[in-house]
Amino acid sequence: MAMYEKINQLVDDVTAELVATRRDFHKYAESGWFEMRTSSIIARKLTEMGVDEVLVGDAVCKKEARMGVPSEEALEASYERAVEQGGDPEFLPYTKGGMTGVIGIIKCGEGPTVAMRFDIDALGVIEAQDDGHRPAAEGFASVNHGMMHACGHDAHATIGLGVAKTLMAIKDQLHGTIKLIFQPAEEGVRGAKSIVENGHLDGVDFCIGSHVSDLRSDDAEVAISPGSHGSLATTKYDVYFHGVSAHAGGSPEKGKNVMLAVATAIMNLYAIPRHSGGTTRINVGTVTAGSGRNVIADVAKMEIELRGETTALNDYVVEYATNVIEAAAKMHGCTCEMVVMGGAQSMTSDKAMIDRVRAGAEAVGLKVSKDDSNKSGGSEDYSYMMTRVQEQGGIATFMRVHSKQSAPGHNRRFDIDEVAIPNAVKTFCATVYDIVK
Ligand SMILES: [Zn+2]
Ligand SMILES: [Zn+2]
Repeated sequence: MAMYEKINQLVDDVTAELVATRRDFHKYAESGWFEMRTSSIIARKLTEMGVDEVLVGDAVCKKEARMGVPSEEALEASYERAVEQGGDPEFLPYTKGGMTGVIGIIKCGEGPTVAMRFDIDALGVIEAQDDGHRPAAEGFASVNHGMMHACGHDAHATIGLGVAKTLMAIKDQLHGTIKLIFQPAEEGVRGAKSIVENGHLDGVDFCIGSHVSDLRSDDAEVAISPGSHGSLATTKYDVYFHGVSAHAGGSPEKGKNVMLAVATAIMNLYAIPRHSGGTTRINVGTVTAGSGRNVIADVAKMEIELRGETTALNDYVVEYATNVIEAAAKMHGCTCEMVVMGGAQSMTSDKAMIDRVRAGAEAVGLKVSKDDSNKSGGSEDYSYMMTRVQEQGGIATFMRVHSKQSAPGHNRRFDIDEVAIPNAVKTFCATVYDIVK
């Protein structure tokens, strides 16, 4: 019992420092594969804490398994900005070319291996800059135009650092291996798979991921939901159509019109039949096509996403959508190319791991949701980590850390009640301590 009190004390002592770190990450928001300054600072802080092993660069994500990586030019510009904005000079060079993310490993001898996932990326939102938005009023709104921590991953990165610091303070009481995974590019579900493919989840016995979440209307004082189900499997594609341009008045028959192929594809993608096995989703988010009013269009790009309640249901939509797109192109004499830009599996938390998180949160005096499940309707690429651990006989969960939010996730006025930070750190530390004590 004394140890849980000690954890609370340790976390309370560093909460002000953690809030400052969260606001620094918020101000210098970096979206997926651009988290260069953020990664370098995480690596610096873990090193200063004395964490046994700090992995950076291509030791974290498998380079060729990364999805949705921005252009070389954009990555280079982001690197220069990270240098200007005070990235750590020792660790920054490892992030070149979008090799972001950090893994800290605390080695405490014989015992189980516990992994925790903290995502660190911002997303493509222009943050509100008026005084009605607290980050702007208090001077920590994003200075990187078009990048904003509107999903709370600034808090997630900070929570990971708080967990590392707290566990390092009680390291002599622990037995086992603790992996703190600071994952890049969760938005667009692009990063987790490349960490799994580097083998970092192999041999993990217990795995916990988390997300900050709004207070629940059914129970306004809930701090933690220890499990999560219902996160949808998904695949994101950029689809390219290629045709032949021609004079629209003089010789339209000489063209191969991608506009027709795209229109046919869109109508039939939304006509994919429902599935008796459960929920499916499809969205065509953007289309850009053509080059001029009097020209038969010869190039088009379409950004689409497919989802399913289970990985199998997502596979069903993927197969159907592939047929639709290929047939639509063929119908109009065009060709097409589908490039995978992101993906996630469905996930189901293990009851045994939910119970451990529940016990951990209660041990440090937090209120816990009676209902384990928290249907999101979104997708989460932590699912790749969870699935790998479960495939090998380990157990895993995804918990929600509730606090009052000023606007829905991905909104330009999004902000969290920072009480979520110490609450999450305490829950993680108590749960991990209970496993490796
Ligand atoms: Zn998000
Ligand atoms: Zn998120």
